[in-house]
Amino acid sequence: MTARVYLDYAATAPLRPEVLEAMRPWLSGLAGNANTLYQEGKRARQALDEARATVARCIGASPTEVVFTSGGTESDNALIIGIAHAIRTQKGRERGGNHVVSTVFEHHAVLEPVQALKREGYEVTLVKPTRTGFIEPDAFAAALRPDTLLASVMMAQNEIGTVQPIAELARLAHANGAAGAAGAGAGASGAGAGAGAAGVSTFFHTDAVQALGKLPLSVRELGVDAASFSAHKLGGPQGVGAFYLKRQTPFAATQLGGGQENKRRSGTQNIAGAVGFAKALELAEAEREHEAARLTALRDHLATALLALDARITLTIAQSDAHSLNTHLPGLLSFLVAGYESETLILKLDSAGFAVSGGSACSTGSLEPSHVLTALGLPRDSAHSVLRVSLGHETTQAHITAFLATLATILHS
Ligand code: PLP
Repeated sequence: MTARVYLDYAATAPLRPEVLEAMRPWLSGLAGNANTLYQEGKRARQALDEARATVARCIGASPTEVVFTSGGTESDNALIIGIAHAIRTQKGRERGGNHVVSTVFEHHAVLEPVQALKREGYEVTLVKPTRTGFIEPDAFAAALRPDTLLASVMMAQNEIGTVQPIAELARLAHANGAAGAAGAGAGASGAGAGAGAAGVSTFFHTDAVQALGKLPLSVRELGVDAASFSAHKLGGPQGVGAFYLKRQTPFAATQLGGGQENKRRSGTQNIAGAVGFAKALELAEAEREHEAARLTALRDHLATALLALDARITLTIAQSDAHSLNTHLPGLLSFLVAGYESETLILKLDSAGFAVSGGSACSTGSLEPSHVLTALGLPRDSAHSVLRVSLGHETTQAHITAFLATLATILHS
C-alpha cells in the first residue's frame, strides 16, 4: 500500500472537501469585517449569523448562546475562568462560593485553567474515574460542597473514548446548588442566587470537543450551563471552535477588546472558520447515526482481530465494556502492546504508512505517561505501551485490514 492511512481522527480529522468548498469564498478576498456597515461587512455578518444559527440548531441552543472561538482550548479556558471570575466579582468570593469540581482525566485544556484558579485561591476537588474510565455519579456527588460554584466534566474522554453520564452529573450539580441555595432563600438557576458561602448555585460545564458530531448532543437535554466545542475534530478547519453559554449564566470575558461576540469574546471573527465549522457540523449530524454504526463495527472488528493477533496485546478498556454508543465513542480504540514503547510502534507504523497516536497528541513526545492512563490505574510501564487508533469518515475496512497486517509484520519480525 503506497497511500497513507490516517487513523488519528481524535487528534484531528482531515478537512472535508465540502467544508473547503464552503470556506473558499471567504478565503479568497470576499470576506469583509463582520463588524462594519458596508456591503462586504454585511455579507460577512450574514455568513457569520448563518453559521451561528447552524451550530445553535445542531446543539439545541439559541444562536445568542453560541460564541465562536479559536478552538476547544480557548473555549475551555474562557468558560472555566470566565464563570468562576464572574461569580467572584458579582458577589465577592465568600458569598459566591470558592470551590471548583472537575476530574483527574480531563484534557489539559480544562486541567490547566482549573489549576490556574487554584493558584488564585479557589479550592479544587478532582474526581477519579473508575478503572473502566467512568466518573460515577456517587463519586461526583460526594465531591460537591455547599460552596461549589462550578463543576466541569468532559462528555467523551479523548484517550479512551468513554462517554460520561453528563445529564445525570449536571442534574446533581444543580440539585446541589438548589439544596444549598434553598436554605439561604435563593433559586438554583441563573446568576442571581444570592446565597451565602453555604448555598451557592453550582454551574455545570462540559468539554464536548470529542463528542460533537459523534454522539447525540443537545445542550438543553443534557441540562448543562456551558459547553466547549472544536471544529477540527469533525472535519472542519483547525483553529476554530465555539462555546455554548446558557442565557443568564454568569460570565466575565477573559479576551477583552472590541466587544465582538456580544462582549463575550473580542476579536475580529474568523468568517471562513465559522462557515467551515458549521458546514462540518451539518455534515456530521446528517451522517451521525449511519457513521456511528459503521465506525462501531469497524472498531469492534479491530478490537477482536488485535486480541487474536498477538498475546501481548490487551485493550485498555475491556472489550465487553466497549459496545454501547451511550458509553463509548464509536471510532476510538485504545490498546497496549506489552513490552513495546508506544513511540517505537508509532514510528514503525509511520514508516509503513500509518498514522496512529499514543496517549493524547499533547502527551506524545513526553516521557511522562499520560495522566489519563495513570488515572485509570495502569502501571507506568503499561501506560507507556498504549496506542490509540481513532477512525472517521474516510476510514474503510481495507484500512483496518492493512493496519492489522502491518502491525503483525512489525510484531512478528
Ligand atoms: N478538549 C478535548 C477533550 C480534546 O480532545 C481537545 C483536543 O485534543 C481539546 C479540548 C482542545 O481542542 P483544540 O485542539 O481545538 O484546542
